[in-house]
Amino acid sequence: MRRLRQAKIVATLGPSSATPEMIRALFDAGADVFRFNFSHGSHADHHARYQIVRQVEREVGRPIGVLADLQGPKLRIGQFAGGRAVLQAGHVFTLDRDAAPGDQHRVCLPHPELFEAIHAGQSLLIDDGKLRLQVEASQGDAIRTRVVNGGVVSDRKGVNVPDAVLPIPALTAKDRRDLDFALEMGADWIALSFVQRPEDVLEARALVAGRASILSKLEKPAALERLDEIVAVSDAIMVARGDLGVELPPECVPGTQKRILRACRQQGKPIVIATQMLESMIAAPVPTRAEVSDVASAIYDGSDAVMLSAESANGSYPLQAVTMMDRVIAEVEKDPLYRTLMQAQYAAPERNRPDAICAALRDVTGILGASATVTYTSSGHTSLRAARERPAAPILCITPQLATARRLALVWGVHSTISEAVHDERQMVSAACQAAVREGFARKGDQIAITAGMPFGQPGSTNLLRVAEVWG
Ligand code: PGA
Ligand code: MN
Repeated sequence: MRRLRQAKIVATLGPSSATPEMIRALFDAGADVFRFNFSHGSHADHHARYQIVRQVEREVGRPIGVLADLQGPKLRIGQFAGGRAVLQAGHVFTLDRDAAPGDQHRVCLPHPELFEAIHAGQSLLIDDGKLRLQVEASQGDAIRTRVVNGGVVSDRKGVNVPDAVLPIPALTAKDRRDLDFALEMGADWIALSFVQRPEDVLEARALVAGRASILSKLEKPAALERLDEIVAVSDAIMVARGDLGVELPPECVPGTQKRILRACRQQGKPIVIATQMLESMIAAPVPTRAEVSDVASAIYDGSDAVMLSAESANGSYPLQAVTMMDRVIAEVEKDPLYRTLMQAQYAAPERNRPDAICAALRDVTGILGASATVTYTSSGHTSLRAARERPAAPILCITPQLATARRLALVWGVHSTISEAVHDERQMVSAACQAAVREGFARKGDQIAITAGMPFGQPGSTNLLRVAEVWG
């Protein structure tokens, strides 16, 4: 079974997608990676869905990626007397350390570390940016603000502070518990929310200790100031447009998305575009034209994957949403302009052996019209560097490691298959031809390009490029 497209689909699981039948149907319709959102649901819920995903994986015989998305340091205000209050534009509103229920004049901000970091002139956004407060003064235990955009505010709504680098840890106590649980469960990817600095990623990496790959969600303006460094220390990046669009004016999100895309393509790090991609399909079986155009643009720009959030987790039409994404991606990839645009943003390879071999692989594949680009890999590194080249033929990854195959499910163009290690070049060519035919990539007489490292089975040894004719 193979997909007839190169870009991937990430589908978030939730109450609308919790049964074996639905998860199987979402996979069949095109979901390559399932996202487990630790902002919602109990560990028992996640565990049950995880077991189903692995059961589907066994049924279909294809590796499936599991992405565990940690909530991160999401800031919230405290509670109000009666559960809510109405803030009036132009009035003073104070955030303080007093746990007593709030009213239209004040509420508790239960994050002591913020009082030092917030200064006059900055903005505080509440409830996904619906309310805006301008900070007038911040003393040790109270932040006095003027209400710019007022409205109803209720208990424990989220707070965003776009203008400040916050002195908060990358992982909360809850994140650490969720991380342990997710790794124990067998997640392939860990997503970090509200990454601000490369150090945040390194801190998480030390805890993960190689048991999963790390995806950094970019949703804070502070992260953009150190974009290249964050991309360098991450295994993948997500443009998390939900919070990003609260912290930045919405009109700045498209340009920022393209800037992040370019940085990731340059470094060869997989990039996922997320949030509100098919938002109206939460409640309707068909998307808006604008949403279809948004998904298509992300693909034209060369994204590795596009993501569904509430559309597949809580919506009424999860299956239709995945099907629609699958159709949009396939259509874009048929357009000759797609390759032209991709080539226009091609970035030169780095000066090392795997990159040199993968650049040659791309040329050979294009010139010969090869039907597959076969990469032998143990860690997945060679397949990632091959994907960075965006070759004209799909990348057939042959690996002995199930964990590698699952992680690569997120990566543009990579179709992985598990196979015993090979020991010499004859075995390598023969196994590559067999896999290309078996997996539906080539027929007798087709040419395939193969890359591997000699001696076989030694990580980091990529040094060989071989062209073979399939005798099938
Ligand atoms: P979230 O992340 O859904 O976990 O908030 C995605 C986003 O902010 O876009
Ligand atoms: Mn977010």
